[in-house]
Amino acid sequence: MKVLVINCGSSSLKYQLIDSVTEQAVATGICERIGIDGRLVHKVNGEKITLDIALPEHETAIGAVLDALTNKEYGVIASLNEIDAVGHRVVHGGEHFTKSVVIDDEVIRGIEACSDLAPLHNPANLIGINACRKLMPGVPMVAVFDTAFHQTMPHKAYTYAIPKEYYENYKIRRYGFHGTSHSFVSKRAAEVAGLDYNNSKIIVCHLGNGASVTAVMNGKSVDTSMGLTPLEGLAMGTRSGDIDPAIVEFIAKKENKTIDEIMNILNKKSGVYGMSGVSSDFRDLENAVNEGNQFAIDATEVFVYKVVKYIGAYTAAMNGVDAIVFTAGLGENDKIIRNSICQYLGYLGITIDQDKNNVRGVEAIVSTDDSKVKVMAIPTNEELAIARDTVALVG
Ligand code: AMP
Repeated sequence: MKVLVINCGSSSLKYQLIDSVTEQAVATGICERIGIDGRLVHKVNGEKITLDIALPEHETAIGAVLDALTNKEYGVIASLNEIDAVGHRVVHGGEHFTKSVVIDDEVIRGIEACSDLAPLHNPANLIGINACRKLMPGVPMVAVFDTAFHQTMPHKAYTYAIPKEYYENYKIRRYGFHGTSHSFVSKRAAEVAGLDYNNSKIIVCHLGNGASVTAVMNGKSVDTSMGLTPLEGLAMGTRSGDIDPAIVEFIAKKENKTIDEIMNILNKKSGVYGMSGVSSDFRDLENAVNEGNQFAIDATEVFVYKVVKYIGAYTAAMNGVDAIVFTAGLGENDKIIRNSICQYLGYLGITIDQDKNNVRGVEAIVSTDDSKVKVMAIPTNEELAIARDTVALVG
């Protein structure tokens, strides 16, 4: 089967055409600046084709993707009939969607109903779904939710200590995100480490521009660091993560700012970017650290320390841990960050093998053979996970 995986944001749209037999992407790409001017970057066999084309809305962007995939020169399929199914990433499934589902009118209404929980993301995801349904009528489509994997969390993990009517009236609770990644990576880590997934305690640290930690016990998410929105938890590229909520009121009064303005600061101007004043990108941050920039050194230390605290909390929550897994841009690639985090974990009997840790973007056990807990780097592949779910539902 050939599955088109679509990840539709408010002004961008990423896609991959995946062959379900080889599990390889035959083409990938991104439409950028949708609604502004428009650019499509299409990649096939390592070759990159950049097309500056007008993309006034998402439907034109999907049309441009389908044209690129069937183009005589750089396309990879002869006609759209070769696309057997489409898998859509959907950010918020609320409590309604506990697993991936085949999209029909009722599912669309369900995703719409979750839109007030993710007002920036779900409407964009829906636009992508509706555009694909229009341009590819009859092709089965599947929605894969970022939140679904975390729906196994118990009440004590997802409940905020605020008056219960806020949950009853508005469903305010922890949902968690990056679920497709945490599920994919924890499963793969169990295979690589020779653990029985259904009888294991795994902590996954998804450390990218967005970052979250999840406790996966016996194959199920039992706690995760992101909350009602992706703002909670770790310090991230530009997000603050956990702060005292009273800070919002304090800044509002001191600087005469609205709630919206402060939320923008906490989402887009905080994290390692805000703390360092250098960059949200860890490669820039590391360059600044090497030049002796104290703000960059301090920001990195805060980032690492917060990951360490979540690992401690989730080890306690699961009463132990068999494996700690690093994934996403930073987790997969950055040996310094992995090592810095693990230096705190001697109390768990963890020791890192510096040679084994000297890897980038590959699956590896980076702890020593006698380490009491396995520490691993496992590249995530959310698109492949979406394609697998799509095949499982419509294949
Ligand atoms: P993601 O959101 O998963 O794409 O991850 C983005 C983050 O990963 C950015 O902070 C990047 O600086 C970081 N990153 C990506 N590649 C590397 C690398 N080779 N070394 C260090 N950090 C990296």
